[in-house]
Amino acid sequence: AKAVGGNAIRFHTAQMDQRVSLRMSLETRLRKALQENQFELYFQPQVAAEDGRLVGAEALLRWHDGDSMIPPDQFIPVAEECGLIVPIGEWVIARAVGQIAEWRNRHALVPPIAINLSPRQFWRPSVSHCILDALNFAGLPTSVLEVEITESVVLDPEGDSIEQLGRLREAGIGIALDDFGTGYSSLSYLQRLPVGVLKIDRSFIKSLVVDEGAAGSEPLVRAIIAMAHSLSLKVVAEGVETPEQLQALRYLGCDIIQGYLFSRPLAPGEFAEKYLVDRKN
Ligand code: C2E
Ligand code: CA
Ligand code: CA
Ligand code: CA
Repeated sequence: AKAVGGNAIRFHTAQMDQRVSLRMSLETRLRKALQENQFELYFQPQVAAEDGRLVGAEALLRWHDGDSMIPPDQFIPVAEECGLIVPIGEWVIARAVGQIAEWRNRHALVPPIAINLSPRQFWRPSVSHCILDALNFAGLPTSVLEVEITESVVLDPEGDSIEQLGRLREAGIGIALDDFGTGYSSLSYLQRLPVGVLKIDRSFIKSLVVDEGAAGSEPLVRAIIAMAHSLSLKVVAEGVETPEQLQALRYLGCDIIQGYLFSRPLAPGEFAEKYLVDRKN
């Protein structure tokens, strides 16, 4: 071991203790949340840029802890670190498939629903089998579900994530590359991953329309869309909040829009009421 100053060690340890105990309590509560059914899926519509018709929805995890709602950004990273993302992710798959089955019984034209997958879920047990088994068990075609992954799935040394993605894609499940343009994105990933959709990260949409003279992200967004289209990928813009952003994205040829401008993520009942049409009979 390296010789380190005593003070440095003590300081480090105190901070770590605090972090570890914070994490432990959250971990315990997450475990309890799973057992006691405190999770819920919300659904955010995705609409065609040209005419606003519903073309899909993203399922987003919500945790109701008593009266408070804990946002996913605050617990997904912990769940990933401690491995609980695997059972939580299995719950998400089961819940999404169950919801789709229920909607398809009652409604016509239920669009594909996208679920988020963490890199850690590609370790054992295989998430691709879990997804395909769930759909098979429910008697649903693979076209009803899509998955969203981030580029970091490529960096995962433990798993066979690319093989699993290939299996999903071959079975007919759409794969979207989330948060595109952030993190460790490398264009070479686009060749290695069997994706059909690029989701441009919210940060680029935020700076898309800026005052004259300021440096906006328009040139970048334009380039991303051109590149995606030349690879025959569809483009989703995330976090679209203003009519000006929508107009710019339409002009740039973006295919699909997701964001508060159209709708926040909605509870299942509200989503169905607002966006799904009843079957005739
Ligand atoms: P994400 O996959 O990038 O999801 C999009 C996030 O942007 C969602 O936050 C959504 O509510 C938010 N959003 C959508 N439109 C707008 C907008 O117009 N403006 C702004 N400011 N935000 C918008 P949310 O639901 O809090 O989720 C945060 C992140 O948590 C997700 O980011 C995803 O990385 C993760 N997450 C959520 N559900 C799951 C899940 O079931 N499994 C896994 N592994 N991760 C999940
Ligand atoms: Ca996502
Ligand atoms: Ca995203
Ligand atoms: Ca994200």
